[in-house]
Amino acid sequence: MQFSTPISQFSRVGKTTAKHLERLGIRAAKDLLYYFPFRYEDFRQIVPIDKLQEGTAVTVRGRLELIANRRSFRTRKVVTEALVNDDTGSVRVVWFNQSFLTDLLHPGDELFISGVVKVDMLGPQFVGPVYEKKTESEPTHTARLVPIYPLTGGVTEKQLRFLMKQAIPLAESWPEWLPEQVRQENNLISLPQAIKLIHFPSTMPELVLASRRLKFDELFTLQLQAAIARRQLSERRASRLIFYEAEIQAFVRSLPFALTKSQKIAAWEILKDIDRTVPMNRLLSGDVGSGKTVVAAIALYTAVLNKRQAVLMAPTEVLAEQHFASLSNLLHSRARLGLLTQSAQRLSAGELAGKTKKAYKQNFIKAIQSREIDVIVGTQALLEEAIDFQNLALVIVDEQHRFGVAQRNTLKMKGQGVHFLSMTATPIPRSLALLLYGDLDISQIRELPPGRKPISTRLVDASNRNKAYQFIREQIRAGRQAFVVCPLIENTTPETGEKKSVLSEYAKLSQKIFPDLRVRFLHGKLKAAEKEKVLAEFKNRQADILVATSVIEVGIDIPNASVMMVEGAERFGLAQLHQFRGRVGRSSHQSYCFLFTENASGVAHERLTYFASHTDGFSLAEKDLALRGPGEVYGTEQSGMEELRLATIADKELIQSARSAAAKIIPELNRFPTVAAYLESRRRLIHLE
Ligand code: ADP
Ligand code: MG
Repeated sequence: MQFSTPISQFSRVGKTTAKHLERLGIRAAKDLLYYFPFRYEDFRQIVPIDKLQEGTAVTVRGRLELIANRRSFRTRKVVTEALVNDDTGSVRVVWFNQSFLTDLLHPGDELFISGVVKVDMLGPQFVGPVYEKKTESEPTHTARLVPIYPLTGGVTEKQLRFLMKQAIPLAESWPEWLPEQVRQENNLISLPQAIKLIHFPSTMPELVLASRRLKFDELFTLQLQAAIARRQLSERRASRLIFYEAEIQAFVRSLPFALTKSQKIAAWEILKDIDRTVPMNRLLSGDVGSGKTVVAAIALYTAVLNKRQAVLMAPTEVLAEQHFASLSNLLHSRARLGLLTQSAQRLSAGELAGKTKKAYKQNFIKAIQSREIDVIVGTQALLEEAIDFQNLALVIVDEQHRFGVAQRNTLKMKGQGVHFLSMTATPIPRSLALLLYGDLDISQIRELPPGRKPISTRLVDASNRNKAYQFIREQIRAGRQAFVVCPLIENTTPETGEKKSVLSEYAKLSQKIFPDLRVRFLHGKLKAAEKEKVLAEFKNRQADILVATSVIEVGIDIPNASVMMVEGAERFGLAQLHQFRGRVGRSSHQSYCFLFTENASGVAHERLTYFASHTDGFSLAEKDLALRGPGEVYGTEQSGMEELRLATIADKELIQSARSAAAKIIPELNRFPTVAAYLESRRRLIHLE
């Protein structure tokens, strides 16, 4: 057997099994070895039968006394019943739907039986345990720490362990890529050892060592790649965007508010970055409502003052519209802005010629190319147009993680030698940011503008629903507006019971609860023009209540709104709920957030209670991470995340070690050919995808 031996050549693997394995990414022996268990069953304890206790997970070693199949009278299923003896007594064993067992196991066989003990009037019993015949070699499925693999249909745990056993001797010759120095400094076992032990550890300490080594590999790779990206970037050249102090100060003075301290610091960090010939690569992370837009405006205005163009990209049309509106407002006398999305092209001032839509769009693109537009706000549509950005100097991307990787790359390519700023309203804990965005510098806005009253948040039970509606009515009477967020657009499977959807809630609220009020609805399937109209109406106070899906999650700025009501709140993550809550409390009006649940489990209830009593986005993000893991919270397609199979954000000490190890190695990478080769092979892999 070799690393490249196809899985189909393994013993007892037919065409169908090979296909199932392929679906798990296992094509050859080497893939199998890197298919890791996600947990282990501890069946190490071998217990005499007369000492078996209810509810314990143990192993019994004994002799099969008898075995027979019968058909259950009630369920018509085949039940295999057996009796296993040791020197101290006998235990009953049953399996369901495995009639073939009577062909495999015979009275007199020496067996291990591993499972959870049940005790009833007739004594101890195992139901559906794992069994294994005793042989010369050590057991694979029983009487040990048994690896459990993440499997989908078609392959069983036993099958996979059986295959793994065949492949595991290969681990011995797995090439080590970590330099001796790195291994020693970080107390890491060798890669061959780690691979062997992650599958078949004999003790817990062995398992810890194996997983520590393999986690380090993942984190070290990420950190090395980030360090290389950083170095490559530092070798590129961008044009300096000179800081025009007087103009920027005049701009800041013209604002209806004073910048907060962290806005000033963030703006300062950005201005310093773009005033260099090394391209900026920075993440601006700040809670909803922390005022990132004006910081972005300062950077955009600086580009304009330097007679260069700038782009701001948003993930949705709604957000692009919003940004276009607020930036046009902020920069109205200072820059010419243009909006470009799939469905709309517009200028902040003036009009373009063009009778047909197509002609208008062509003229719009011409206007960009002839520099009649300084700041272009748009969606992905910006990437799809063949625009020749000769004069581009700054690219700002809002909520980058919502764009596909491909689009991000296109953007970076087009932006060769441009300064790059990524903004996110998801408060990313610094530890996670270091892990995922090792190649970015980070600015954080951790304070909200002064005068904001904390949003009063409450979990409302069904019996108080009418009170909540009454409260909304009072708020609207006082001149405020309200949002109602639902998890679905439309309830397409009514048989699963009442699920809150935008359309059903809209009907209910507009007809029954608030027939005298102006209720509107908004969701992602509406036409862009329709969305725009609804939002504009709401913004201009021509509507009182907006029923919406999570499309309103980010960016929407309606300072007059004071109530956020969330239906089916247990279906949203804390970070997302926090985004919803950030839609209110954007002015000096006291604001409220009501959470309704459909059927929240205990855990969900705990999560929501935590949410109700915490207002800081960063601490909510930490809690969300701890409860649900980074994949759930930030999306698995988030850069780097998919590369982590064992390591998580919780491995803080290892992240730190991997980071400093990478920093040490990178300057003299050519002294470490195995590392260079390893990274090269990964790079090729990524490029092929
Ligand atoms: P986000 O960070 O969520 O994008 P915005 O930039 O939309 O936040 O700002 C939220 C609201 O706060 C806007 O209405 C904006 O005008 C206002 N704002 C921003 N900075 C300040 C400040 N320093 N003082 C008072 N209000 C501010
Ligand atoms: Mg924003």
